[in-house]
Amino acid sequence: MSVFDNLVGQEHVVEIIKNAVAESTSQSMTHAWVFTGPPGSGRSSAAVAFAQALVCTNNGCGTCNACKSAANGAHPDVEIIRTEGLSIKIDEVRELLARVAWAPSMGGWRVVVMEDADRLTESAANALLKAIEEPGNRTVWLLCAPTLHDVLPTIRSRCRHLQLVTPSNSAVAQVLQNRDGISPQMADFAARVSQGHIGRARYLANNEAVRNTRTTIMKLPLTLNGISSAFAAAQTLVDLATEQANEAAEERNQTEIDDLSLAYGKGATGRGMATGGSKAIKELEKEQKTRNTRMVRDGLDAALLDIATFYRDVMMVQSGTTDSLINKELEEQITSYAQKTKPHTTINKINAIMAARTNLGHNAAPLLTIEALMCVLAR
Ligand SMILES: [Zn+2]
Repeated sequence: MSVFDNLVGQEHVVEIIKNAVAESTSQSMTHAWVFTGPPGSGRSSAAVAFAQALVCTNNGCGTCNACKSAANGAHPDVEIIRTEGLSIKIDEVRELLARVAWAPSMGGWRVVVMEDADRLTESAANALLKAIEEPGNRTVWLLCAPTLHDVLPTIRSRCRHLQLVTPSNSAVAQVLQNRDGISPQMADFAARVSQGHIGRARYLANNEAVRNTRTTIMKLPLTLNGISSAFAAAQTLVDLATEQANEAAEERNQTEIDDLSLAYGKGATGRGMATGGSKAIKELEKEQKTRNTRMVRDGLDAALLDIATFYRDVMMVQSGTTDSLINKELEEQITSYAQKTKPHTTINKINAIMAARTNLGHNAAPLLTIEALMCVLAR
């Protein structure tokens, strides 16, 4: 067993990391790395595996205390930064730099994994840059981002780049069967519709409610036959994304507030909270709201990607092939839709979906963006 077992279809990256770990005791160790790859390719899993291998005495066995604690954030020399908000601000980077300023406790490397380096503000990135460039430091920086363009040039020019690829459907299906005990049919379906996104495939395979939501979403393009159906479809999509975000947030938000109240002494002596308590709670609530907004956007983005596979399949049929459809379950409906429309309108629709995703990424109002898109798709 090894921490690299989880990296599906990334053999080239694993080899580079293993070599770096083997040479990590020498002077030539690279201090800053950037992992890029499409969503679900496992860029943060790769970075975390690298971190584990650097602090494990057995090059990342996956079973020792160092390996386990590094992965769950309990290792004193490994820091995993996951962002809930929309950006990583300079204050957060300064706090991080203060925490990692000490020499590594175990005498090896201190490792920082930053999962969303693309969310660094410019000033935060500049603060980070100074730390990366500092001579003689014992910290290894593992930054993750969708593409190299998402990382500021000043940072990326100091990093060694590792590019992850989308694993094949069959590789994903194999992992779902072998590791998660999912039936072959379900594994094939989940891998196919998730297009190499292993996390989504696993989630889909294990969760009937999620599969039902997907079925609802995939039927929306077939309902679009005019303006009123377009507005209805937009509302359905936004409602589904909001519902999902709320469900995920409800329990977690309350737990966080309870924990924070407790930290400020609420309930312990029957008296109120210590000074600063209510201010801290207000700040937490603000963060939770930001996180919720982001989760709705992420949910909509995933739904749009699913809808794009419908038009992608339509295009396949229009160009004469049906053997590699993503939505095999809808083959009949897709074929009849393809006969009623023209290839160039299909391409326009796919482009419109991608443009809407970009707009959502730039904080455009969700409902308005989706409504405008659905009107285009309904044409
Ligand atoms: Zn280990």
